Amino acid sequence: MSTALTSDADLLRASGLRATSGRLAILSALAKAPHADAESLRRRLGADAPSLQAVHNILADLHAAGLVRRFEPARSAARYERRVDDNHHHAVCSACGKVVDVDCAVGAAPCLHGPTPPGFAVAAAEVIFWGVCDDCAAAPR
Ligand SMILES: [Zn+2]
Ligand SMILES: [Zn+2]
Repeated sequence: MSTALTSDADLLRASGLRATSGRLAILSALAKAPHADAESLRRRLGADAPSLQAVHNILADLHAAGLVRRFEPARSAARYERRVDDNHHHAVCSACGKVVDVDCAVGAAPCLHGPTPPGFAVAAAEVIFWGVCDDCAAAPR
């Protein structure tokens, strides 16, 4: 039985990165916890987690290689995810910080076309929808 799925180690090597155990651990943690920040990824790795600084370095490498997407909601630490192959957006709960993917209606960046600022070529529109998630809406105040 063969699988067409590329392993994370192959993915790293194809991006010119060595497949270190730290990078593999972060990639697999991110697969299970999209939109996680560095601190919560580190917590998921348990006892043999690398230092927080090492986690930040790994995430920076993965981001530079295009293997993870990074976004930074206001008043929150940077979040990371492996869904890099589309132009999706995010909805963020302003009460608990929960993040949900929102498919892009257009599919390619920039999906918002406003008046072009003079002297500027727009490449992307960073959209964050702010609101309150169902759990927080249902929670007694
Ligand atoms: Zn919430
Ligand atoms: Zn996302």
